[in-house]
Amino acid sequence: MKTGSYVDGKWYHPTGGSRLVKNTNPADTKDVIAEFPAATAKDVEKAIAGAKKAFESWSKTPAPSRGRVLARAAEIARRRKDEIARTMTREQGKVLKEARGEVDKGIACLEFNAGEGFRIQGKTLPCELKDVFTYTIRRPLGVVGLITPWNFPWAIPVWKVAPALVAGNTVVMKPAELTPATCALLVEVLEEAGLPPGCLQLVVGPGSEVGNAITANPDIKAVSFTGSNQIGYALYAQAAARGAKVTCELGGKNAVIVLPGADLDAVVPAVLNGAFGSTGQRCTATSRVLAHPDIMGQLTEAVVAGAKALKVGPGLDEASQMGPAVDKKQHAQDLMYVDVAKKEGARLLTGGGVPKGLDQGYFVEPTVFEGVRAEHRLFKEEVFGPVLALTPIKDLSEGIKLANAVEYGLTCSLYSRDVNDVMRFVEEVETGMVHVNEPTVGGEAQLPFGGLKATGIGGREMSTDGLEFFTETKTVFINYTGKAERSFVR
Ligand code: NAD
Ligand code: MN
Repeated sequence: MKTGSYVDGKWYHPTGGSRLVKNTNPADTKDVIAEFPAATAKDVEKAIAGAKKAFESWSKTPAPSRGRVLARAAEIARRRKDEIARTMTREQGKVLKEARGEVDKGIACLEFNAGEGFRIQGKTLPCELKDVFTYTIRRPLGVVGLITPWNFPWAIPVWKVAPALVAGNTVVMKPAELTPATCALLVEVLEEAGLPPGCLQLVVGPGSEVGNAITANPDIKAVSFTGSNQIGYALYAQAAARGAKVTCELGGKNAVIVLPGADLDAVVPAVLNGAFGSTGQRCTATSRVLAHPDIMGQLTEAVVAGAKALKVGPGLDEASQMGPAVDKKQHAQDLMYVDVAKKEGARLLTGGGVPKGLDQGYFVEPTVFEGVRAEHRLFKEEVFGPVLALTPIKDLSEGIKLANAVEYGLTCSLYSRDVNDVMRFVEEVETGMVHVNEPTVGGEAQLPFGGLKATGIGGREMSTDGLEFFTETKTVFINYTGKAERSFVR
């Protein structure tokens, strides 16, 4: 396994930093996966200079050829899928099945963007004047900075890197300190696929130094960030102050609305998957269920039984259905919210503690609270752990109102067969992604991903929208006879 940082086609261990990023297994804290000596602001400068140099030739490489590098990377990732999934499970904690699914999703993003290499397109539009040909072309931005979180250590880096590269940019990427090894594998895959040195630079180190050095550098033309609101808002302000382009994907507090008549055989697995999948550490996790009293009783019983039956354990064990929290801090945060919810008067139905016999890692029980009210912190704040809040609603109107009564707006789901309810829900719910009769989770390479309100700044990721972020438009006027005269008004 490659460790350290990767600049100008070489792996090396930075020496200037005072820290060692010790990458441990959250299911067994004695298992150290690798050590990544922390990079410093100096390493970032070097990485940006190298990326700037590489931009000269990469931006001139025909887009279909750039796409072919991604197509080869997709094949290599498919061949190395098991290795990537195991590394991810070992360093992040999610169960193998989820890790494999995440590898597949990244592969789809590579494939989608490989194809986009053939399609990066401008528009040909008519001109007001005779003998003038007007059209647009899309150009890369230059060197872009990518800053990623630990919860999807493969898919998020891929869905940023692939469009950035195919559009002709060169990249300086900083993964979360908790999950550098999976990101290092992405670099290895792209290296093996023939990506020229300098096109993708990896700097592993603390956000406060390395992330900040990326955001602040005038040679970084755009920053794509996924992570917490606290860091994202500060980063946005900092980058905007020097005129850089920014996209931020931030937190979520997603609800499932259940009305009488909903098919519980479909709702219950969706809620369990949404709430406890990836140990609740998904921005799209289901953290609230808003249900009518006529169905709440049965639903609660089934969800609690399902939560109790979930096998919690190390992700590398194929029998485990839910892995640990990612680290000590997240573990403490999960338990803190259990405490807060109890104190605020919600009723704990199951979970709320550390499962027996699993104290070698950061495990938490799947947890369900009922009687959670709109003013409770558990209703409004992102836990990022396996803690589900149940809240009664009297009808769809109240369901939509409560779904919208949080600062976030990433995703929401409604279970209903009533076409009027469905259409109204789609129209009125304030989220960037809307699901009907399926869980709140999920996203696909070709579909725009992202949120409204406090969840998102600066447009969607994945899909052609995500690619557009990494380009700028040039509008071209060719006065081919040289005779057409442009008046002052146009
Ligand atoms: P985080 O904000 O702590 O860190 C994200 C990244 O920013 C890390 O790489 C970190 O090192 C870096 N960073 C920290 N300080 C920085 C600074 N001053 N300047 C620049 N970079 C800095 O988030 P996290 O704990 O890694 O991830 C969890 C959060 O991510 C949750 O809030 C979750 O909702 C969010 N998330 C959102 C989405 C989405 O698409 N909406 C997806 C996944 C995760
Ligand atoms: Mn780790």
